[in-house]
Amino acid sequence: MAIERTLSIIKPDAVAKNVIGQIISRFEGAGLKVIAGRLVHLSRGEAERFYGVHAERPFFKDLVDFMVSGPVFVQVLEGEGAIAKNRELMGATDPKKAEPGTIRADFAESIDANAVHGSDAPETAAVEIAFFFPECNVYSR
Ligand code: UDP
Repeated sequence: MAIERTLSIIKPDAVAKNVIGQIISRFEGAGLKVIAGRLVHLSRGEAERFYGVHAERPFFKDLVDFMVSGPVFVQVLEGEGAIAKNRELMGATDPKKAEPGTIRADFAESIDANAVHGSDAPETAAVEIAFFFPECNVYSR
């Protein structure tokens, strides 16, 4: 399987719960490497741009409100099949439907405050990584 990069966000609910390290451990335990990372408090404009694909969805305003409610930890994960592997570790969007042992099953409260984001395809991963990290701040190893 190809070595891929994906964007992961630890959302405000999980940062507030102080479980950044526990979530990163899941990625490392599954063989993914953190090759870039930082805390950032998104502005409304940034959150709206990042989730622009959902602009017409009924939950868009609540999603933006949530994403600007506190700092988030943004990171680039690299490894074999990183995009699908990350989404498997995350679990379903709705934590009530997430497989036991997934990040959302263990750390998320609801479909809107659901602990993590992960890119869903190579094209979106490239766009989302570039949104937060210039190539000079990414340390492939
Ligand atoms: N979301 C929500 N209500 C919904 C569906 C999605 O609040 O009914 C939020 C949720 O935070 C989700 C994000 O919008 O993580 C993006 O939705 P998507 O369907 O892309 O889910 P994901 O890829 O994050 O699992």
